[in-house]
Amino acid sequence: MNSSRSLEYVLSMQGGDDDHSYAKNSYGPAAALASSKTMLTSAIDSIKLTIGGSSLIKIADLGCAVGDNTFSTVDTVIDALSRKLTVSDGKSDQPEPELEVFFSDLPSNDFNTLFRSLEDKVNGSSKKYFAAGVPGSFYGRLFPKGGLHVVVTTSALQWLSQVPEKVMEKGSKTWNKGRAWIQGAEGEVVEAYAEQSDKDLVQFLKCRKEEIVEGGVLFMLMGGRPSGLVSQVSDHDSGLRHLFTILMDQAWQDLVDEGLIEEEKRDGFNIPVYLRSTEEIAAAVDRCGGFRIEKMEVLKIADPMNAKQQELKDPESYGRAMSNSVQAGLKPIVEAYLGPDLTRKLFKQYAVRAATNKEFLKENSFYYIIAVSAIRV
Ligand code: SAH
Repeated sequence: MNSSRSLEYVLSMQGGDDDHSYAKNSYGPAAALASSKTMLTSAIDSIKLTIGGSSLIKIADLGCAVGDNTFSTVDTVIDALSRKLTVSDGKSDQPEPELEVFFSDLPSNDFNTLFRSLEDKVNGSSKKYFAAGVPGSFYGRLFPKGGLHVVVTTSALQWLSQVPEKVMEKGSKTWNKGRAWIQGAEGEVVEAYAEQSDKDLVQFLKCRKEEIVEGGVLFMLMGGRPSGLVSQVSDHDSGLRHLFTILMDQAWQDLVDEGLIEEEKRDGFNIPVYLRSTEEIAAAVDRCGGFRIEKMEVLKIADPMNAKQQELKDPESYGRAMSNSVQAGLKPIVEAYLGPDLTRKLFKQYAVRAATNKEFLKENSFYYIIAVSAIRV
């Protein structure tokens, strides 16, 4: 990104439902959701529904994007809450609380598609909740004080609020030369990202501390790394190493080698993603205060592209599938930086590089995800 401040206006997943849309390529986050479903359900089970004496239970999904994952997250929450309500039914003379869900994401999220899908989901015969969309960054306040009972955020918090300013200073030690991401980058670059990540997470938590009612639940699922791992993806088999590092850097280098962009232009693009360790998350929660971590787990998720490799026997189809999956997350920010023509070229090269890299075709890669459930105390 050339202007880090503009990130919240350009970052989004690829909307619509074509081959490189998020809706068609969100199987990685879907696998993460499936692995953490039990933990989310038990987090909900542990809350008291009488919190705040409210007859309205408010739920927010922050960084909701659009697609099956958006609805499966909310369905899990609603099902768990509804079960609780059924169990407690008859035990009190209070009317059964109504449920309200806020779907929240950055303003460039494809809310139109989301709202159209809601029509079938919520306004069908079994209307289970009221829905609203809330545009804005989760690094700022999104809701009034003490109004929310359940907040979930899945596969979103690894996105920072911006590329650290230091990383944008040309010629400095923190200028990330030759790379689009921080895996294997100079220590100073990684350190700048770590500082930004810490600042961002504390900021996120401070806002939620205001918004969540005491006794309410905050459930966070984010791309991360296990305890003690210094590098972002030290394992050879990490799927992110392929997506953000090797293939990405090769594709950018192809554009430089073909004389389509200057090296400096390439060096100025950075992916604002940081994978926190469990220690970094616990330290931020501790520093913010107001939350008690009930459970934190590191989940190792097999990259769903492994299955695609079996399904797509020819390298070209596999290359295209890899390129589609990376475009789902990165196309909007790349396009804001390079414009449409060079962006098309970059992702075409990405597909070529993926198709011709025999090493990947043999590999079974994975991701690490960290799941945290916390109670507002
Ligand atoms: N929750 C979905 C989507 C994950 S994709 C799932 O589990 O599949 C990550 C989402 O986080 C994107 O839609 C992106 O726009 C959103 N996001 C990233 N940074 C954000 C921010 N600062 N504020 C709000 N949403 C953000």
